[in-house]
Amino acid sequence: MCGIVGYIGASPAVPYLVGGLEKLEYRGYDSAGIALIDRQGIAVIREKGRIDELKKLLGEEKNESTVGIGHTRWATHGEPCRKNAHPHVSQKGLFALVHNGIIENSEELRQELMAEGYVFSSETDTEVISALAEKYYDGCPVRALMRTAERLVGSYALGVLCRDFPDRILCARKGSPLLLALDERGGLLFSDKVAFEGLREVYRLEDGEFAVLKQDNITFLDAMGRNIDKSPSRLAGDEYDAGKQGYAHFMLKEIDQQPRAFSRTAEAYLQGEDIVFPGFSLSEDQARSLDMIYLVACGSAYNAAAAAQYTLQQIVNLPCRSVIASEFRYTRHYIGKNTLCVFISQSGETADTIAAMELARRQGGRTLSIINVPDSTMAVGSDGVIYTLAGTEIAVATTKAYSAQLAALYLVTAYLGKRRGELSEENYRLFLNHLKGIGAEIKGALALRSRCESLSRIFDGQNDIYFIGRKTDYALAAEGALKMKEISYLHCEAYAAGELKHGTISLIEEGTPVVAVCLRKDILKKTVSNISEVKARGAFVLAVTQERYAPLFSEADEILAIPDLADEELSVPAGAVPLQLLSYYTALRRGCAIDKPRNLAKSVTVE
Ligand code: GLU
Repeated sequence: MCGIVGYIGASPAVPYLVGGLEKLEYRGYDSAGIALIDRQGIAVIREKGRIDELKKLLGEEKNESTVGIGHTRWATHGEPCRKNAHPHVSQKGLFALVHNGIIENSEELRQELMAEGYVFSSETDTEVISALAEKYYDGCPVRALMRTAERLVGSYALGVLCRDFPDRILCARKGSPLLLALDERGGLLFSDKVAFEGLREVYRLEDGEFAVLKQDNITFLDAMGRNIDKSPSRLAGDEYDAGKQGYAHFMLKEIDQQPRAFSRTAEAYLQGEDIVFPGFSLSEDQARSLDMIYLVACGSAYNAAAAAQYTLQQIVNLPCRSVIASEFRYTRHYIGKNTLCVFISQSGETADTIAAMELARRQGGRTLSIINVPDSTMAVGSDGVIYTLAGTEIAVATTKAYSAQLAALYLVTAYLGKRRGELSEENYRLFLNHLKGIGAEIKGALALRSRCESLSRIFDGQNDIYFIGRKTDYALAAEGALKMKEISYLHCEAYAAGELKHGTISLIEEGTPVVAVCLRKDILKKTVSNISEVKARGAFVLAVTQERYAPLFSEADEILAIPDLADEELSVPAGAVPLQLLSYYTALRRGCAIDKPRNLAKSVTVE
C-alpha cells in the first residue's frame, strides 16, 4: 500500500516531505524514508517504524535541498527494517526511487540482474526497478524508466530521482494511485490528496503514463514517449479534518460521527419522495430487466455488502450475492448486460476491488461503485458512482465509512425496489422514513458508551471470542469480530449461529466469551436456542439486542441493549455501534495502537 510524496520547489523539501508522509501514514507505517537531491548528489535517510522515528533521524539533518521524494511503507516483500525501507538507490547511485505496489516478476529479474553482476542491498521487489533503470540508462532518465516499465509485471506508482538531473522528479504508474499538482509551493507528487493541504486541482496519472515533474511545469508522456495533454481535476471543498478534537483517538471520534455520516449520505440523495443519484440511474425497464446483483468488496466494506445482500434480496426480489473482491477476480461469474455489479470501497483505491470491477466491465456487466473518496480510481473507472459522505476517515479500522456504505446500499435497495415495482408506494415511503430515522438510532446506541467500556472487561485474559448471529445479525457479528481482531489483536470468529453446532461448538469451554447478536425478531428464538447450546457448554454470553427483547435473554450473562429500532431489516448501522465500542475499549485496556494497528494500512492498494 504505502504512501508516496514528492516535492520540487524553492524551499527546503524536508518539511514538505515529512508533513506529507505524516498525512499518508494511514497507508502504511512499518518504515519510512526520504531521498533529497541537489548538484552534490542524492542523500537518503530512512528508518524502521513510524514517521516519528524518521523525524528523530532527521533532527540532525541539515540538508537544504529543495527537491525530494518520500515513502511510508507497508511491506509486501522483505521484512520491515531499515535496509528494506524506501527510497531504494541503484548500485552506482544513479537512481533513487519510491514505489507503491508489487513487482510480480521481481525474482526472475533479480536473478537476471545478479547474473550480470548487480549486487542487491535489500530484499524488496522494488529494488529491481532501480537496478533496471540504471541498466537501461543512456543519458536519458525517462527512456530508462520507460524501458524499465516494459520489463515489469505487477503494479507500481513510482517517484524517481536521477543523479544527473536534480531539477526533476520522474513518475510512472500502473495499477497504484499517483497524483501530481502544481501550485505556489512548486511541483507536488502524492498518493492521496490529503498529503498536501489546500490543493485546488490535481493531475491524475493513468496506467501506462509517465510524468516529469519540475518546479513550475509537468510533462505527461504515454508509453511511446509522446506528449499527453492532460487537464487537472478541480477538488471539491476541502473537508479534511485531521484533528482529534479532544478525543483520545480518531477511531472514537469517528464512531461518534456516525449519525452524521449516515444521515448526510442518506439525505444527500433524497429529493422529496424520490431518490436521485447524480452519478447513477436506471430506468424502470432497466431495473426490471436486471437478472442479478453482485456486491463486491473487501474487509468491512464486504461486511456492509454481506448485510445489504439480505436486505436487497428481500426487498428487490433478485438473486443477490456478496463476494470478497480477491475471490471474485479469479472466479467464473455469470455476468451479462443486465447484471448489476456494485463495488464498495472507502478509498476507491482498493486494488482487489478495482481488479474485480475491471473484470465485471470486461464481461459486459453494469458497474456501480460506492466510494468515499472523490476522484479516486474507482470513481472514474465504473459506469456509475455513488459517493458516501462520511468525510475523511483517519483511523485504520473503519467505522463511519462503513455506516455510510450501509446508507448508500439501503438507498440502492429502495431505488431498485421502487423501480422494479417490488416496493409499493406506501412501503417505499415507509422505508425512506425509516432510513431518515437511522441517524437518531445510531445516536441512541452511542449512549451505551460507558456500558461498553465496563463490559470490555469480559475479554480480559481471553484468547478467543466467538460472535454469532443469523441473517443481518450474522453480517453484523462478522463486522464486530473483524473490528475486535483489527485493533485488539484478540482472535475472534464470527459464525452463523445455526452453523455453530456443525463444528465450531467444540471450541466452547468454560468461560469462553460468546457475543450473540440478536436484533431481529424473525430469528430471535432461534438465536436464543443457540445461546442455550453454548451456555450448556460453559460459554460466557454477552447478548447484543434491542431494549424490547432484553427480557428474552435470561440465559445471557450480560446484555447490551440498544434503544428499539423502527425497522429490523435496517438494524445494522445502530447495531454496529456497541460492537465498535466494545472493540475500542478492549483495545484500550490492552494498550494497543488503536488508530494504527500493527501490520495494517487504511487503503489497501496491493493485491
Ligand atoms: N512492494 C514494495 C515493498 O515491499 C512496496 C510496498 C508498498 O506499496 O508499500 O517494499
